[in-house]
Amino acid sequence: MAKRDFYDVLGVSRGASDEDIKRAYRKRAKEFHPDRNADNPDAESKFKEANEAYEVLKDAEKRAAYDRFGHAAFEPGMGMGGGPRPGGGRGPQADFASAFTDFSGVFDDLFGDFRGGARSGRQRAARGSDLRYNLRISLEEAYGGLQKSITIPTAVTCSACRGTGAEGGSEPVTCPTCSGMGKVRAQQGFFTVERTCPTCSGLGQIIKNPCPVCHGQGRTEKERTLSVNIPAGVETGTRIRLSGEGEAGMRGGPTGDLYIFIEVAEHNLFQRDGVNLYCRVPVSMTSAALGGDIEVPTIDGGRSRVKVPAGTQSGRQMRLRGKGMPALRGGAQGDMFIEMAVETPVNLTSKQRQLLREFDEESQDNHPESENFFTKVKGFWDGMKG
Ligand SMILES: [Zn+2]
Ligand SMILES: [Zn+2]
Repeated sequence: MAKRDFYDVLGVSRGASDEDIKRAYRKRAKEFHPDRNADNPDAESKFKEANEAYEVLKDAEKRAAYDRFGHAAFEPGMGMGGGPRPGGGRGPQADFASAFTDFSGVFDDLFGDFRGGARSGRQRAARGSDLRYNLRISLEEAYGGLQKSITIPTAVTCSACRGTGAEGGSEPVTCPTCSGMGKVRAQQGFFTVERTCPTCSGLGQIIKNPCPVCHGQGRTEKERTLSVNIPAGVETGTRIRLSGEGEAGMRGGPTGDLYIFIEVAEHNLFQRDGVNLYCRVPVSMTSAALGGDIEVPTIDGGRSRVKVPAGTQSGRQMRLRGKGMPALRGGAQGDMFIEMAVETPVNLTSKQRQLLREFDEESQDNHPESENFFTKVKGFWDGMKG
C-alpha cells in the first residue's frame, strides 16, 4: 500500500505553521491513542502513522527534505545525496542517517551529540550539501565527449530574506538558551554531557520572525538546468565536480558542489578496457583458410578494411592503432583489437557436403594443431599405462 502524504495524515495544508502541525498532531494522537481504542483495530496503525508524520513535519529540515523529495527523502540510496558520512549511528536513528546523507546540518543535529569533543563551540551557518547526479551515456558519447543539459532539483538561496531566514531580511538574534554557544551541558549520572542546543539546533542564533517563504531555512527548493561539458574519454566511475553548483547553504552558508557520476552503457559491438576497444568479428571458414579482406566498424562511426591472412585460426587478434578511445587526461589514443572468430558453416546443401567430403579426402598436413594435440594425447595415455 502506498504511503500516505504526511500532510494528509495530519490533515493540514502544505503551508501549515509549526503551531498548526503541533495542534493537528495532538488532536490525532489523542483520538487514536491505543489506550482509548481497545476495540478499534485500525487505531494503532493510525496512531503510528500520525507519529511518523509529526516526527518529520515538526522538524524544519526534515520537513524541507520531505517537501522536496517526498517519502523518498527517508529511503536509503535515493537518487540525490552525497556519499556516506563518517560516524553513522546505530539504533532507531540509523535509518535517518542514510536518508539524510545530503543534509549535513541534520546529520550534525542527530549525531553531533555522540561525537564527543570532535567539535566545540557553535556551528557556523551550515555549508550547502553536495549533490550527486548520475548520468548514463553511450560509448559513442564517451568517445566524442558531449554537452549535456541536466535538470536538478536543488535548494537555492531564498530571495525573500536574502538567505538569512528571518522575515524581511532582519538579523537573527543570539539564542537565549545557549547564549550563542550552540551547545548546552546536562548532568547525566557522573558525566556531564554536552548536547547540541535544542532551541537553535546548534546555530547559536534564533530567528524571532521566520521568513514565510522559506520557513526560516534561508533557502528554497527550485529546479535548475545546467549545461554540463562531458569531456571525451570518460568512463564508468568518472566523477565531474562542478564547484559551487550544489545546494545553497543554510542561512547564508557557502554553497555545496555538484558531482556528476558517469556511467557508460555497454555497447553491442565494442568492449572497452581502459583506452582500448575489443571487437569480435566472425570470419568464414573459407576466408580464414584462403585469406581475404573483412570490413570492421570503428567507434568513430567509420569503417576499416582488415586483411585476413591465409590460414587464420580462431582467436587471432589484429590491432588497429589509434582506433580506440581517447585518453581522458592527455596521453595516446587507445587501439582497437579485432578478434577473429572462425565460423563453421551450417545449413549445408548436398553439393557443399559432397565438396567438403572430397576436401577431407584430399586433406593431409592441413591441420597441424590437431596433429600436435593428438600426439600429446597419445603420449598421455601411454604414460598412464606405465
Ligand atoms: Zn526566506
Ligand atoms: Zn541555542
